[in-house]
Amino acid sequence: MNIRNKLTLRFILIVAIITFMASVLIYIFSADYRREDYYTRLHNKANNTATLLIEVDEVDVNLLRKLEKDNPISLPNERIIVYDFHNEVIFSTDEDKTIHVDQDLLDRIRLEEEIRYTQGDYEVLGFLFKGRYDRFAVIAAATDIYGFNKLKNLRTILLLVFAFSIIVASVSGWFFSGKALQPISKVVNRVDEISITSLNLRVDEGNGKDEIALLAKTFNDMLKRLEVSFTIQKNFIANASHELRTPLTAITGQLEVTLLNTRSTDEYIKVLNSVLEDIKSLNNLSNRLLLLAQTSTEVDERKMIDLRVDELLWQTRDELAKRNPAYNIHIDFHQTLDDDASLTMRGDEHLIKVALSNIIDNACKYSSDHTCYILIQPANTMLTLTFRDHGIGIPEEDHSNIFEPFYRAGNTQSIKGHGIGLSMVNRIVALHQGTIQLQSVVGEGTTIILSFPAV
Ligand code: ADP
Repeated sequence: MNIRNKLTLRFILIVAIITFMASVLIYIFSADYRREDYYTRLHNKANNTATLLIEVDEVDVNLLRKLEKDNPISLPNERIIVYDFHNEVIFSTDEDKTIHVDQDLLDRIRLEEEIRYTQGDYEVLGFLFKGRYDRFAVIAAATDIYGFNKLKNLRTILLLVFAFSIIVASVSGWFFSGKALQPISKVVNRVDEISITSLNLRVDEGNGKDEIALLAKTFNDMLKRLEVSFTIQKNFIANASHELRTPLTAITGQLEVTLLNTRSTDEYIKVLNSVLEDIKSLNNLSNRLLLLAQTSTEVDERKMIDLRVDELLWQTRDELAKRNPAYNIHIDFHQTLDDDASLTMRGDEHLIKVALSNIIDNACKYSSDHTCYILIQPANTMLTLTFRDHGIGIPEEDHSNIFEPFYRAGNTQSIKGHGIGLSMVNRIVALHQGTIQLQSVVGEGTTIILSFPAV
């Protein structure tokens, strides 16, 4: 069932309950009032008759019967019976003996002074009349035709009011719930129009204040994030294929030119070496791309172990120096380092090594002295590693984008690279709840500071 139907039904239910309860209360109070009013009138009438009979000496039974017969203020089907203290009938207008009176009933009247009950259509009142010399039991009965007709009429009116209020509630409930849900329908229609090719579309945020505006705003924020990540992904694929195509084009070109003529062995060796170089670079690039993809997800908890940072740095230094004999890598500990300072952090050994090796490699690659100075400094709960070089530096305007995949600073055209390293470092550091800071001045050098939680 849709929300509009649900809201309308609930509205009808609430109106129905309120109207029903009000109708029942009105009916109960009216019925109660009719009963009290009727018995009061019956009592007054019977009391008058008994007073005339007992207190007024001039009035005897025959005269009273005559008076009663044509009395215009008598109640419909009125019957009055008066008993003396011997329970003998001294006066009765109940000629056909419709009202059943027995000894028990008379005793109860004398005991309780007033009783009320019904017999068929008759409502009967019995009460004790105290005369000057005697106590009489008076029975009065009549049928309240007008009172019951009024009640019947009231019942019909209440039923009509109930039916009418249900109809009004249904129509107005349907109308107002439709109106309240209209903005949601608009949002739904708009969302229907948004596809992967039209992520730039946005949902109308209406008045910007109510819940639906909040929903639309949340949805728009999500669309914005999706659009950004979709664009990043698109750019990433374009950049990656571009980077892969460059060495492939070089390989194809070299081989095609070589195959045009027959070459000497030396020339073949030269070309093969150059092709091998390009293939190695291609291999390196594809490995890095794979690693970048891996670091985009969450780190595997099973690979997280306690790592001694200084040991990792020594190992990385040795591996880099083996591959690039020109590199100078100095590792120092901060002066304040005391004996129980922790050099241990929790992490994925392979990923941390990749990060360290990228930073050190960059420092050596982008400086003419190929030298990187590393400082290890444990501070409180953090472990800080500072990498410093006196290289070409990174222009100020590139600082904000330098951690984006495939981004390279403007001053690095002459030095080979793909722009993947730093983005990978950034992700690895984030995966290890660390932070990265960059300070760099063109022509003076670059400092990169990594901080990781110590164990
Ligand atoms: P790559 O070195 O392969 O180009 P990176 O992602 O490692 O890619 O670095 C991105 C860019 O950041 C580099 O192209 C370079 O412009 C700049 N860069 C990084 N480290 C340094 C550094 N130590 N000195 C100067 N520039 C640097």
